Amino acid sequence: MTFRAVLLTQEEKAVTAEVADLDDGQLPEGNVSVEVSYSTLNYKDGMILNGIGRLVRDYPHVPGIDFSGVVSASSDPRYSEGDRVVLTGWRVGEVHWGGYSEKARVNADWLVKLPEGVSELDAMAVGTAGLTSMLAMQALEDHGVGSAPVLVTGAAGGVGSVGIHLLSRAGYEVAASTGRPETSDYLTNLGASQIVARDELSEPPSGPLSSERWGGCIDAVGDTTLAHVLTEMQYGASVAACGLAGGNALDTTVIPFLLRGVNLLGIDSVMCPFEKRESAWARLDELLDREVLSEMTTVVGLEEVPALGSEILAGKVKGRTVVDVRN
Ligand code: NDP
Repeated sequence: MTFRAVLLTQEEKAVTAEVADLDDGQLPEGNVSVEVSYSTLNYKDGMILNGIGRLVRDYPHVPGIDFSGVVSASSDPRYSEGDRVVLTGWRVGEVHWGGYSEKARVNADWLVKLPEGVSELDAMAVGTAGLTSMLAMQALEDHGVGSAPVLVTGAAGGVGSVGIHLLSRAGYEVAASTGRPETSDYLTNLGASQIVARDELSEPPSGPLSSERWGGCIDAVGDTTLAHVLTEMQYGASVAACGLAGGNALDTTVIPFLLRGVNLLGIDSVMCPFEKRESAWARLDELLDREVLSEMTTVVGLEEVPALGSEILAGKVKGRTVVDVRN
């Protein structure tokens, strides 16, 4: 049986992505087969589609770091035909073939059954970026959120958009930092009560501490933005470091940690254990306003994926992009 997938090939270090017909025999090893419904476009997919960061070592390769779908066959007792599942992380789409494909074959340990109230489309509107935001919010809560607004950087992107919505639904006052002032209305609709210009935070900090502006932070940007934000945290507040859209450097001092008890929490959605994922999906089901989720989501077909990789790396993609792989 043939099926369609985005196939990455490499020739003399240049990577090309195009939609191709594949057959079942080409799928990798795995004890669960899934008819994929949706996948998504994440920052890491942008890197993979453009051959950046040597995330993929073996070509030809099917990218797509997450997907939702329906189990079509399973030799693992935890899954049967017809189960609705979601997969994020575990280096699927990097070292194992991923979700930009009508079919996938994976290890049962990597899957989570979708909660009853979460559709396959909702699951991917959330996707890796949204799950990361939820893990970040839970990490902030585990360490205690201060009384000042919670800051979200890289606000108009995928992690940022879902993060703003979740924080606001959980009752926090949210400040959104963006380099795209034209997205202010969009960010306010998601639940932000304050918009902060990206430049205000991306300058290196002027000293080791500054006024206490933030009760918590979900940071998708890193680099000087993260260094700057660390100096503005309330006493005992936490920064959940999720991403590096601005760069992977971190030039800071120990002072925010010593004199303000600031916590720097690393968020990893890729290898995060099953129990944490399962509870994150249950809380997503409880908190997400499906209408707002759909407003932040653009649905595209498989053919559009190759060109979108460069768009997300250029910071031009707003909110979440879901790939309807059957389209
Ligand atoms: P998006 O591209 O959707 O969002 C990133 C946002 O960051 C952009 O929309 C833009 O926001 C801002 N931005 C982009 N370039 C720059 C820049 N040069 N300087 C400052 N800000 C910039 O990506 P995602 O939301 O999918 O991912 C965000 C980050 O999180 C990535 O680094 C990604 O790799 C990481 N990530 C980490 C995960 C984990 O498990 N830790 C999981 C998922 C993602 P605006 O226009 O509002 O300024």
